[in-house]
Amino acid sequence: MPACANHREGHVSPMETRPLPVFDRKACMACKMCVDVCPVSCIGVEEAGGTGDPHGYPFLASPDACTRCGWCAEDCPVAAVSLAAA
Ligand code: SF4
Ligand code: SF4
Repeated sequence: MPACANHREGHVSPMETRPLPVFDRKACMACKMCVDVCPVSCIGVEEAGGTGDPHGYPFLASPDACTRCGWCAEDCPVAAVSLAAA
């Protein structure tokens, strides 16, 4: 029986094929719940006012550290986080 394709040398692991979170600034209310729930602290917050907006919005600061657990999307109260295909 052939080995699973994901375990062949040179192929990415199943974890790496899972989607990364994407933040929808228009829907986001800058509550920072996603920042607090992230188990590896890879979500950063833009400096408030830095982009001409009074809110500090979250962004994926360390994609390499993200475990793609989806907790940020699950906890967002306004569905402003989605996990898009990488
Ligand atoms: S998917 Fe998980 S690890 Fe990645 S940013 Fe969201 S909460 Fe953090
Ligand atoms: S939990 Fe949702 S609304 Fe709150 S800061 Fe994160 S993306 Fe924005």
